[in-house]
Amino acid sequence: GKINIAIDGPAGAGKSTIARMVAGRLSYVYVDTGAMYRAATWYCQSLGVEPEEVEQVLQIVKDLVIDLIPIENGQQVLVNGQEVTEQIRSLAVNAKVSRYAQIEGLRSRLVSLQRQMALRKGVVMDGRDIGTTVLPDAEVKVYMTATVEERAKRRYKEMKEQSAISLEQLAADIAERDRLDQEREISPLRQADDARLLDTTHMCIEEVVETIVSYCKI
Ligand code: C5P
Repeated sequence: GKINIAIDGPAGAGKSTIARMVAGRLSYVYVDTGAMYRAATWYCQSLGVEPEEVEQVLQIVKDLVIDLIPIENGQQVLVNGQEVTEQIRSLAVNAKVSRYAQIEGLRSRLVSLQRQMALRKGVVMDGRDIGTTVLPDAEVKVYMTATVEERAKRRYKEMKEQSAISLEQLAADIAERDRLDQEREISPLRQADDARLLDTTHMCIEEVVETIVSYCKI
């Protein structure tokens, strides 16, 4: 039968690339929960609502519809029917997403959407709190890490606005996001007790995919 696979870890560890490839190998569905937090952030920002305006944020996310549509080599992200695939990777979203992600009611809304997506199993879900909170019963849990320097380099290569930011600035941004994600009160970023730790600093993509697929042969 099908199982669920939870992949957590800090920003830039390569979770989304790896999770998508593992899903492809197993013919499973990939769910990018970071894209959901980014879509909610983009939508609030587009309405001029700051993370400090908690009541307004909650009003917005109450009926927020987020669609993740798989396409060749990636996914399309729609928020309330509007395509925002590129916009959610902007520097403005990067800078604020971890602030919006601290809001309890926003998290509970997204967590319930994520659980619905995993009900029928056969899901590879990546994020920060999947193994600990969203899918505590996932059959396979992986906590992926790499050094901050290595993660900044990987993010730098995939950025669309490279000229707008230096590698050093990117490393600082990632370190700050890690801090906010680890120190927040509600479901902070941490390795679940039953998750396998995978340090990918010196691993290539194929090796990481093979390793996780091997965990799934139960
Ligand atoms: O994975 P990605 O870097 O796109 O996630 C963006 C941000 O969304 C994270 O830094 C974190 O603040 C938030 N997030 C979260 N819980 C998740 C996924 C992402 O809080 N499950």
